[in-house]
Amino acid sequence: MAGEPQADCLFCKIVTGEVPATVVRETETTVAFRDINPQAPTHVLVIPKAHHADAAALAAADPQLTADVLREAGEVAAQEKVADHGYRIVFNTGSGAGQTVFHAHAHVLGGRGLQWPPG
Ligand code: AMP
Ligand code: ZN
Repeated sequence: MAGEPQADCLFCKIVTGEVPATVVRETETTVAFRDINPQAPTHVLVIPKAHHADAAALAAADPQLTADVLREAGEVAAQEKVADHGYRIVFNTGSGAGQTVFHAHAHVLGGRGLQWPPG
């Protein structure tokens, strides 16, 4: 069922603490933690605690939770002091776009110049 924890999902295990992560922010509905393989000086992942496969599925199932994730992405950027200069929020969607973990997550990237268009 949409939103239910998945036994084989890495990010569900980060939510429960079964897999450790460097958590930088947590709310009732979201967790933000540092990416294990950072692509920028600031690279934080913001996830809903509930399991949804990707951003579109999350938005279709739970608009309020989608807003929670986006608000937290902004709060992470402010906390990491990259908000003033500028930062990027990325939702890779589908394996062809580089999605490797099928639990919706926002990448918050900043602290260096970010090229447009992205690769
Ligand atoms: P994506 O490729 O968009 O699905 O993003 C998945 C991200 O999760 C990648 O940037 C990985 O580096 C990151 N990642 C994978 N395992 C962990 C982990 N145990 N803790 C933190 N980040 C992770
Ligand atoms: Zn999950």
